[in-house]
Amino acid sequence: MLCEKTGALLKVIPMNLNGELEMDTYSQLLSDKTKLVFVNHISNALGTINPIEKIIEQAHAVGAAVLIDGAQAAPHIKPDVQALDVDFYVTSAHKICGPTGVGMLYGKETWLEKLPPYQGGGEMIATVSFEKTTYAGLPHKFEAGTPNICGGIAFGAAIDYMNSVGFDDIADYENELLAYGTEQLLKIDGLRIYGTSKNKTSVISFNLKGIHPYDVGTLLDKMGIAVRTGHHCAQPIMDFYNIPGTVRASFAFYNTKEEIDALVTGVKKAKMMLS
Ligand SMILES: *Cc1c(COP(=O)(O)O)cnc(C)c1O
Repeated sequence: MLCEKTGALLKVIPMNLNGELEMDTYSQLLSDKTKLVFVNHISNALGTINPIEKIIEQAHAVGAAVLIDGAQAAPHIKPDVQALDVDFYVTSAHKICGPTGVGMLYGKETWLEKLPPYQGGGEMIATVSFEKTTYAGLPHKFEAGTPNICGGIAFGAAIDYMNSVGFDDIADYENELLAYGTEQLLKIDGLRIYGTSKNKTSVISFNLKGIHPYDVGTLLDKMGIAVRTGHHCAQPIMDFYNIPGTVRASFAFYNTKEEIDALVTGVKKAKMMLS
């Protein structure tokens, strides 16, 4: 959308078969013409944790700003936006047990001061006359109109809840689930996992040889096992692997090994029925 609006040129950081960004090529793509670097903190399609510290550092070295999509990272990692020195970081409330339709944008104060409001409405103006309007200070300049008050309060409660569970414990436990799930699923003949970086979170994207992911997902659903199927809003990744999509099981801190066992049994059953 930004390219269409501004005529900017989109250059893509390639990835390897493990689903890791090729950092050497990234360095070569950067130049003093680079205005904005955008990456996911964690890939929702593959689970890869991208090396955003290095990405940010190298982008800043050529004067580019960095926007990180943290929607998939939010349930797994607590980002320190100031330590990261990131320019913009976004995430959605519904990824961390919060409500839908609300999220957050973090921006460095210097950027937010510089950027114009993207929307007009109540509460975002300082002074108004027919000659000139000035805008309210941060963050009100970007919060036109009566806000989603309930959503905001619920988002806050969700953040408090996640913090009370504790992100260190969440990471330890989810890594255990990931290791267990990977080991168990790989015992199934003809099952391939997409996203095999050592640096990944508890997302397992997979396919059964010769079987469409939707078919596996539909049968798992009938067995009461919820997975996501399809391209996960990441069609270029599916093209890269030359597949129509994947079946994706994503484990959170409230999942159990017994549930993973049920998934494995379900996948075996689905395989039997479909092959
Ligand atoms: C879920 C997700 C989104 C979309 O979030 P919405 O709140 O549905 O817009 C974007 N990026 C990533 C990485 C996600 O996991």
